[in-house]
Amino acid sequence: MMLMPMDTPLPDPSANALDVGYEMYALVEQLFPICRSITGPGVRETLAILQELVPLEIREVPTGTQVFDWVVPREWQIRDAYIQAPDGQRVVDFQESNLHVVSYSTPVRARMKWKDLQPHLHTLPDEPDRVPYRTSYYQETWGFCLSQCQWITMKRMYGEEAEYEVCIDSTLAPGSLTYGELYLPGSTTDEVVISCHVCHPSLANDNLSGIAVATHLARHVAALPERRYSYRFLFIPGTIGAITWLAQNEANLGRIRHGLVLSLLGIPARTHYKRSRRGDAEIDRAVAHVLKNSGAEFALLDFEPYGYDERQYCSPGLNLPFGCLSRTPYGRYSQYHTSADNLDLVHPEALAGSLAHCATIVEVLEGNGAFVNQKPKCEPQLGRRGLYSAIGGGQEKRNTELALLWVLNQSDGQHTLLDIAERSGLAFKDIRRAADLLLSHQLLTEV
Ligand code: ZN
Repeated sequence: MMLMPMDTPLPDPSANALDVGYEMYALVEQLFPICRSITGPGVRETLAILQELVPLEIREVPTGTQVFDWVVPREWQIRDAYIQAPDGQRVVDFQESNLHVVSYSTPVRARMKWKDLQPHLHTLPDEPDRVPYRTSYYQETWGFCLSQCQWITMKRMYGEEAEYEVCIDSTLAPGSLTYGELYLPGSTTDEVVISCHVCHPSLANDNLSGIAVATHLARHVAALPERRYSYRFLFIPGTIGAITWLAQNEANLGRIRHGLVLSLLGIPARTHYKRSRRGDAEIDRAVAHVLKNSGAEFALLDFEPYGYDERQYCSPGLNLPFGCLSRTPYGRYSQYHTSADNLDLVHPEALAGSLAHCATIVEVLEGNGAFVNQKPKCEPQLGRRGLYSAIGGGQEKRNTELALLWVLNQSDGQHTLLDIAERSGLAFKDIRRAADLLLSHQLLTEV
């Protein structure tokens, strides 16, 4: 797959944007070795590390809990797994990479012939150096993942008559599903929900990049001097975690005004935004506006019921305004769900650019609103009020003047600042700054 050029620097990055990029990368590195799954100690260990950065609350939902059409599954624990050749060598070893065991494998201890082992071995013949990532959450089975090269070597070295010792030291037992939740209250109970999945083992872009960006976005939002919206950050196992959270919080879903699923944000490729099922929700327009004005490469995609947890948030009975922000979209990079989705694939610059997009999206959501021009008959005299001279020179001056005129003209209570930004082609922050200036001169009132 061709990677798109690195995002061009964003117009207004904070001085420490790249430092935060390196902090996010360090977090990805720290979380990388942990063997996560949809339940079990790996998720708890991951969330405990995040708690050092943000005051996450950890929730445990017991096995057997009914959540819409699903049931919280048993908890999976894995201690060791290997295939041992006749000469005592561990030819496939969980201790080397947690991708080597199919996630949710049932325990097994057996001696097996090569041919009997085959149905339990997964390789990628077209990518012979890579180990695939496989799961079997809802069907009881066990298996190993290995590179095609490893498979060929085993066959050559030991032949088809060899007997292997197979061990998966795992437990599937009643326990709970674990997720992390951070609620940051604002001046209203209207909510923005940010969601990412925490259920993948050693994969860097798929799940760890989203976790790192969501964590640092939470830190950014927590540090805002004021918040109109309340923010809820969810660190949940994919699919079953989102279903569980939605089922248990159904009574409060009406508070959600905007939602964003964060995933695959660490590759230096262009940003993709997948719209909500509604297609024209404010979040869809806000993200599109931010990406258009970022100066970076981007693409907008229509909703499809395939991908991450937007599938659950946007199911027809809920139809919540959730989009999904990614670099390369779901499944569309060759390293996806393989051992090549490793620490080399993720770049601090890409993480920093993704976080900057998210922070600007929050700025737009927070700053959007509709106003009414208090001097709507002809233009008010701006020069007399010092509104022309207050501004610097050049393009910035021209943009500010234009923004003042656009906001005055469109503020009839029917058009939001985002509408005005879209229609004028000006950046939201220019429109917002103009509205603030006009508000301070009593030329606008908020609807
Ligand atoms: Zn995945």
